[in-house]
Amino acid sequence: MISRITINTPVLFQDALPDSVDVVIIGGGVIGIFSALYLARRGKKVIVCEKGRIAGEQSSRNWGWIRQHGRDEAEVPIATQALSLWHEINEETNGACGVKTTGVQYLASTESEMQKLEEWLDIAHKYDIPTRRLTGDEVFTSFGGQSTNKWVGGTLTENDAKGEPWQAVPSVAKFAHEKGVLIRENCAVRALDIEAGVLKAVVTEAGTIKTEQAILAAGAWSSLFARAHDINIPQLCVKSSVLQTQEMPDFHAPNSTDEKLALRRRDDGGFTLAVSDGHDFYLGPDAFRHFASYLEVMKDSFADTSFHLAAPRDFPDAWGIARSWPKEGPSPFEACRVLEPEPNRKFLKLMQERWSERFPKLEKVQIKEAWAGMIDAMPDVVPIVDRVPHLQGLIVATGMSGHGFGIGPGMGMAIAKMICGEAVDHDMSRFRFNRFSDGSRLIMGPAL
Ligand SMILES: Cc1cc2nc3c(=O)[nH]c(=O)nc-3n(C[C@H](O)[C@H](O)[C@H](O)COP(=O)(O)OP(=O)(O)OC[C@H]3O[C@@H](n4cnc5c(N)ncnc54)[C@H](O)[C@@H]3O)c2cc1C
Repeated sequence: MISRITINTPVLFQDALPDSVDVVIIGGGVIGIFSALYLARRGKKVIVCEKGRIAGEQSSRNWGWIRQHGRDEAEVPIATQALSLWHEINEETNGACGVKTTGVQYLASTESEMQKLEEWLDIAHKYDIPTRRLTGDEVFTSFGGQSTNKWVGGTLTENDAKGEPWQAVPSVAKFAHEKGVLIRENCAVRALDIEAGVLKAVVTEAGTIKTEQAILAAGAWSSLFARAHDINIPQLCVKSSVLQTQEMPDFHAPNSTDEKLALRRRDDGGFTLAVSDGHDFYLGPDAFRHFASYLEVMKDSFADTSFHLAAPRDFPDAWGIARSWPKEGPSPFEACRVLEPEPNRKFLKLMQERWSERFPKLEKVQIKEAWAGMIDAMPDVVPIVDRVPHLQGLIVATGMSGHGFGIGPGMGMAIAKMICGEAVDHDMSRFRFNRFSDGSRLIMGPAL
């Protein structure tokens, strides 16, 4: 049986540390693993160093939506490519990633919400994404007639898909490993060895690896790691809570969200549920340091945020966490092998209530499993995927801002091409490293 990835999940990858490689990847989430796979396919010798378990953090804790729907325009072509790469890898892994075409629909309870949703249709048409407006009756049909809720309508992207996050990235890692990618779990990267602004080696808790190229794909930990090397990434984390229901009758709902509830049908017959209007935020030094950068995003999300005065010990922006440490270690990354926040019980209860309001004919939700993940966000809600200008050899690929699972293979492909000096298929200027410091105006991406 496939289960959630925690600190108790057995270690599967323990490759010996090589003396040198072409590329070291810091972090074994969806971004690190797909970058590794596509680099190995280009003949590069690669090692993924993961402080805990492959996909132990966001990459197994997410909702599993693989969507083009509603994305920032600059992400759309990458998401379309990612969708086709997800189908490809799913075939190569004999369906182990659980990728299926489900469609993604955003639903509106009021006419003004509907107008907001329709704004994205122009982008869909520009990029030939099969997205259309839904009437209230079509929404009713999309739930197999099981809901009595009155939505005024929605928007649907028909070829969007889902994967099963507990299986998907670990299965890709296994496949990449078979293709020659070295992977080492329980192997925190402590620091970079830099000489005159040039990367020379990566220092891990198991030893040092000589390399000229590294990718920082450390999710919620990227900013802490980077800052210890005088690299400023204005990244903050929010906690998002999720629950898995018991088995439910078999109606084929697309991945759906309205203003309050998000749901996805799971292969095990249950649903993954989350509230779409609530998350937790822990105050810490970075929250104050980056406060001004987040004023714009706060305008929309303030009411949806539950603030807490301090993060639990060992969390990325905890008050007491070390901000610098010797290369000989230990580092904060070893103290928290797998970031496993407690889900917010208030939100879990809301999920149960909102399910019952929308599907009164169906049985009440029992909580089969509940968990949370720390989403690494950027001030404009789009990632950084770029070389660090003042550190030759380092690419930062982080701040996926709550939508990196679906786009992961596309970003991995772009990163692999950057490293190999090939032309990248997409305009990546929106994701440039310097955009928060070069005086450019902040252009907000869509929140969900
Ligand atoms: C509740 C929730 C729901 C979401 N739903 C969706 C969705 O439906 N669709 C979607 O597209 N996206 C979704 N996301 C977002 C998506 O999961 C993330 O954007 C994506 O997984 C980020 O991948 P990553 O590889 O950048 O980071 P992660 O998956 O967080 O991986 C980073 C890894 O780096 C490791 N690491 C950190 N520091 C070090 C170090 N110093 N040395 C070694 N290893 C290190 C960590 O242990 C971790 O495993 C959701 C996220 C959450 C939390």
